[in-house]
Amino acid sequence: MKQNTVAFQPHATNLFFHILTACNLKCRHCYIRKDQHGSRTLSMKNIKSWLSLFAKKKKTANVIFLGGEPTLHPELGRAIKTAKAMGYASVTIDTNGYLFHDILEKVSPEELDFLSFSLDGATAPVCDAIRGEGVFEVCTKNARKAAEKGFSTSLIYTVSEKNIHELEKMPLLLKDLGISRFFIQVLGMRGNSLQNPGQKQVNRHTWTSLVPEVAREVASLGIGVTWPKVFLGPEDSFECAGLVADNFFVFPNGRVYRCPLCEDYPIHAFEIKENRLIERPPLHEGQFFELNIPEGCVMNRLVQPGNLDYDKDGHPLSRIACCLLKEEILP
Ligand code: SF4
Ligand code: SF4
Repeated sequence: MKQNTVAFQPHATNLFFHILTACNLKCRHCYIRKDQHGSRTLSMKNIKSWLSLFAKKKKTANVIFLGGEPTLHPELGRAIKTAKAMGYASVTIDTNGYLFHDILEKVSPEELDFLSFSLDGATAPVCDAIRGEGVFEVCTKNARKAAEKGFSTSLIYTVSEKNIHELEKMPLLLKDLGISRFFIQVLGMRGNSLQNPGQKQVNRHTWTSLVPEVAREVASLGIGVTWPKVFLGPEDSFECAGLVADNFFVFPNGRVYRCPLCEDYPIHAFEIKENRLIERPPLHEGQFFELNIPEGCVMNRLVQPGNLDYDKDGHPLSRIACCLLKEEILP
């Protein structure tokens, strides 16, 4: 079992496509803000034309359908088939687990590369305190059902001070649910996390001592695992994905960001207008990516500096990696 740092891929486009912002849940850490991201549900015509804007930008393109809750979109099945027909190399849905509109009947496991469930606890009390009453039961039941039907299922666990103590219980649950890939995320201090008291990122010591250890245990069960690096060591080099990778975070109001940490602010680098992708004039997020600071990621320093520690001379004890830099262990 080898741990790798996942290099940014300059030859691939990753499209994180929010096709609507409506959702049946109200998670305490939800990053969707209708005042910033709109409240539209994109029509199938828009979905098709926006998919085509990114399909051929680079050699390979991957799309992740998001919301809100993407399965609330009645034409998600068609959107998946359209993406495949356009040549997207992989198609993923990120769901809260409710699987509306019989999505498992509308697409086949061959058409959908990953069905990714979000679950933020290994037990109902911890998960439901974050995501809402009854969510754990519905999500685990449907994740199991999807795996039994032959879908490749993955699970996303957003780590915060509220649920880090249950991360160690996840390996056995993942195995039991038939999950083939585990994504550990770090809580972003944006959207609802800023409004809800007690939503805090874990500190450096807790993160570095616990997360990689749980990841190794997950991998030992034959499950691929990916987690953000967050804290760079002295030997690690810093790179901003906004400068070297081709990631696009698209919202239904037409905003297109290159960096998730910017999504609370109207500083998106691009926008889609009349079905064309247009770069916005400065000042936008792109100019922040070029700033070189001792803390590493500029946007982290600006929007969530609580994870930074300094020595007595004011030098950061470690630099913060790009939030898109991941470690992985594949079985
Ligand atoms: S399921 Fe996702 S979109 Fe819905 S409230 Fe939770 S975090 Fe937000
Ligand atoms: S998280 Fe930081 S390093 Fe990564 S794209 Fe955004 S600004 Fe750049």
